[in-house]
Amino acid sequence: MLTLSVPSTTANATAEMTSTPLMRQYAAAKQKHPDALLFFRLGDFYELFFEDAKTAARELQITLTSRDKERAIPMCGVPHHAADQYIARLLRLGHRIAICEQLEDPKLTKTIVRREVTRVLTPGTAIDPSLNSEQNNFLAALCFDGAKIGVALLDNSTGDFRATEFTGKDALAQCTDELTRFAPAEILLTDDPNVASAPLEEAFRARTVTHLEAWVLTADYALPLLQNHLGTRELAGFGLEGHTAAAVAAGGILHYLRATQLGQLEHIDRVRYYEHSGCLQLDAVTVRNLELVEPLMPNARRNTTLFHALDFCQTPMGKRKLRATILRPLLELAAIDERQEGVAELHGGLLLREQTRANLANILDLERLLSRISLDSAGPRDLLALAHSAARLPALAEGLTHLQSTVWKRLHTSLDCLTDLYQTICTTLTEQPPVHLEDGGVIAASVDAELDELRLLSSGGKQSIAAMEERERQRTGIGSLKVRYNSVFGYYIEITKANLQNVPADYERKQTLVNAERFTTPELKSHERSVLGAQERCLEIERRIFRELRQTILAASARIRASAEAVAEIDLLTCFAHLSAARQYVRPEIDGSGILEALAARHPVIEWHMQQAAEGRFVPNSIYLDTEGPSLLLLTGPNMGGKSTYLRQAALLVILAQMGCFVPAQRMRLGIVDRIYTRIGASDNVAEGRSTFMVEMTETATILNTATRQSLLLLDEMGRGTATFDGMSLAWATVEHLHEVLGARTLFATHYHELTMLSVHLPRLKNLRVTVQETPTGIVFLHTIEEGAANKSY
Ligand code: ADP
Repeated sequence: MLTLSVPSTTANATAEMTSTPLMRQYAAAKQKHPDALLFFRLGDFYELFFEDAKTAARELQITLTSRDKERAIPMCGVPHHAADQYIARLLRLGHRIAICEQLEDPKLTKTIVRREVTRVLTPGTAIDPSLNSEQNNFLAALCFDGAKIGVALLDNSTGDFRATEFTGKDALAQCTDELTRFAPAEILLTDDPNVASAPLEEAFRARTVTHLEAWVLTADYALPLLQNHLGTRELAGFGLEGHTAAAVAAGGILHYLRATQLGQLEHIDRVRYYEHSGCLQLDAVTVRNLELVEPLMPNARRNTTLFHALDFCQTPMGKRKLRATILRPLLELAAIDERQEGVAELHGGLLLREQTRANLANILDLERLLSRISLDSAGPRDLLALAHSAARLPALAEGLTHLQSTVWKRLHTSLDCLTDLYQTICTTLTEQPPVHLEDGGVIAASVDAELDELRLLSSGGKQSIAAMEERERQRTGIGSLKVRYNSVFGYYIEITKANLQNVPADYERKQTLVNAERFTTPELKSHERSVLGAQERCLEIERRIFRELRQTILAASARIRASAEAVAEIDLLTCFAHLSAARQYVRPEIDGSGILEALAARHPVIEWHMQQAAEGRFVPNSIYLDTEGPSLLLLTGPNMGGKSTYLRQAALLVILAQMGCFVPAQRMRLGIVDRIYTRIGASDNVAEGRSTFMVEMTETATILNTATRQSLLLLDEMGRGTATFDGMSLAWATVEHLHEVLGARTLFATHYHELTMLSVHLPRLKNLRVTVQETPTGIVFLHTIEEGAANKSY
């Protein structure tokens, strides 16, 4: 867990905090938000004091100064116009931030300006544009209810809101795995000390864990809150009936959002219950070992993740969908088949595929735009971006009409082209509006008659100034006389010193410069009043129309969200089709058997990297596993021979196949896999104080206890890093148990050559070896896998 900064509570600091009215105001705000970094607005800066200042200075690499030289109160600040980027950085680092604003214009108050915290920003609720668009930013809440754990997950930046439940003796472990997959930026837990959430906090200590008071995550409080927010007492419509723990967790999220955002939550208009077991289960170790979405070595020269290798998506929605699909491949034959059909059809049509990709390429992040609009942090250009993205939808939809498969037809139906919205936005806004509404000129001509008239008036104003200038020149005979405007002094007539003797009596002096004097006249004053008044009124009208436009868009948010989802799925399937065509992937045959067979298969990530770098060719290998036949492959051979690659390749092929994607092989047949387990090599947990052997024992026990006959197991170098005898005993016993009791498809790579003897009395165990060529200068790795045991221990 991240240590959140807490104010210094020494007697000294308290005395300093109360030393001046300003510091008393600061102390009051800080007291309400002790665990947040308080951004305290002072003029054009946000200032931080005491411990907050030290933390921010360190994290942001900005200078630490002191406010009061004598008492040396630590302080640092950031300009308010550049605050967003600093705030985003602090959020990414796991801090929470309270923004304390000035609520009055300092020019208009004689005493100290009123200040209050207007927003609290937290890692899990962030919506800023600097969020990684390929990834969801989830906030999680957990509700512990006896043996049940309810989990709710919200991406505030997209409105994706879901909940599920875990039960049974390994509920906590499953829940931890699920959270690892979703990688929430922040986790909400009860502060009730009787709830055994310690292992979970331990697992997520690198993330922000926020404790809510115990009463929040209870049915009495959280259920009505959720019902009120969704405007219904019937949670069945969201699949939440009978899932109180999940619903309570969802209510906890809403509570937290209300407390921190202090604003609208209109974009969260639904929550859905999902079955976490409705997909191919990948536990946390597997997700990490197979480098599905995060590389094992983040700073390596190459990004080695499966996500990176597959990502040909064109939109942020598609990229997020791809990531989620990799982590939750399908389990149902029909669903996989439906996707495959769609991929195959587009795979066959080069022109349409390229057209679709081109249409997708110009669609921006509809979901995040919608959330920003809902949270009132969207400017005129965001609304226009939404319209321009909507403008691409009709062409996208038209393309789909040429496709026949079920999935494309369904997507065509659910893709709402939002034409009305596009029209409304484009006719309401000017073509190139300024960034901020307050700059004016946002609303197009002919939208509002009064606005048009006022604008005419102020542009007519310019002409009348020119006319006035000409008139005054004639009247006074001063050819250099100028009528001008500046924001401090307003309108004035400027006359050079040399001409002062010709100034008429009705001129009133306004300002003296080195070479000139500035004057005003009653006529000029009245002109000024009407022009400035007109501008102010224009702005008022623009604000009103903009507000109405925002409401119109929000009223369509369910439609926009549905379209965004359709776009995500279209993008995903198009990416699969493109990949398959570009890399010669083939459609795998999926069925209910216990077979995993692949002919001349390749590792999707390594092959791609080798192609990119033109570093030789990946050597294809075949595999045959069958719960009714050879269910356990024992792989031996020297280090660097290609054993791990072979193991991982098998798992990645299964994942690709169950995602509905094609696979890098000549042919593949797969009986659906329910879970993939991996136990790979010497441990990285040693640093955390558990011995390698201990970790291996527990992880192996978990696998043996929870795997089923439909699972796929990868065990690599079991027993390594342990005394040879212990390690080999563990490996030996595991192989026997897997063969005799479990019978699941298993790949077992080992350097214990002795284990190959097991094939004599274990009929479903088959020995495989990686081939090498021994030369006088050393061995050459051929990377082919063939039947038989390695002929010696390496
Ligand atoms: P082991 O697990 O036997 O120590 P690895 O699987 O880690 O070996 O492979 C060692 C190296 O060989 C890796 O860099 C990998 O990229 C390369 N390699 C493995 N299999 C193949 C293959 N089939 N074709 C080409 N290169 C391969």
